[in-house]
Amino acid sequence: MEEVLAPFRPPVLCYHRVGGPLELGITRVARSTFVRQMTTLARAGWRTLTLAEFSQRVTHPTSRIPHPELLLTFDDGYASLAEHVYPVLADMGFTATTFLITDYVGRLNTWDVRYTWDRLVHLDWDTIGRWQERGFEFASHSASHARLTWLSDADAAAELERSRETLRHRLGPQAARAVAYPFGARDERIERLARAAGYELGFGGVQGNGSPLALARLPVYVWEVGRIPMALRGGTSGAIGRFVAHAANRCAVGTSVMRGVRSWVSDVRGPRTQHPTPDT
Ligand SMILES: [Zn+2]
Repeated sequence: MEEVLAPFRPPVLCYHRVGGPLELGITRVARSTFVRQMTTLARAGWRTLTLAEFSQRVTHPTSRIPHPELLLTFDDGYASLAEHVYPVLADMGFTATTFLITDYVGRLNTWDVRYTWDRLVHLDWDTIGRWQERGFEFASHSASHARLTWLSDADAAAELERSRETLRHRLGPQAARAVAYPFGARDERIERLARAAGYELGFGGVQGNGSPLALARLPVYVWEVGRIPMALRGGTSGAIGRFVAHAANRCAVGTSVMRGVRSWVSDVRGPRTQHPTPDT
């Protein structure tokens, strides 16, 4: 059995897509890899936290826990989660929190770069409601997946507030508790706006700053084929995993810049269709 890190504050794993069509991006994890990782964690005694339990651990950190714990999260809310992920987790007695792009629930991912041949569909409200009844949780990934740090105060606040209000109306107050900032992009201004909008918890990139509105997450990328996600391991391999995840997050910023340059070039050359930015 591989050594796993006994957490002080529970780690937060972040997946995007699991299974489904292959893509050119780095955020899709094969279903077989995901099942192997979850099975290994379950056999090693890990348990998954609800958002309420996680919030309790954040405000009252403790090292006296009988089992290692983590918060399992999924970004973007693709429809394939209900096919490839939730049934697997339910079988193991695991739960997870999915961060939804509320303007795109039940719609195609026209906000994202076209990494796949066909557009992908997002979870719809009926499916979300059914899994919520089975103990799965949902929260905000903004309204339209805008990079909040690039918006004015008013526009960033509108993204945060519209998404939270939709979730509260559709799913109840427990779904209005947390936000995962698109691209992990946050700063003190965005934390302040998120708090003002009513969020208790805010999840960013690999590095947090101790604030409940600037919590760290550990992304799991396509090259992760081991039994335990690298970032959860102790020792050197864990440090390497966290470093690589951080570097990949940073690279995505460069990708966004390249997309911007490309759309500027097409502006100069003639009419453009769209220039969405990629997710991380
Ligand atoms: Zn995202």
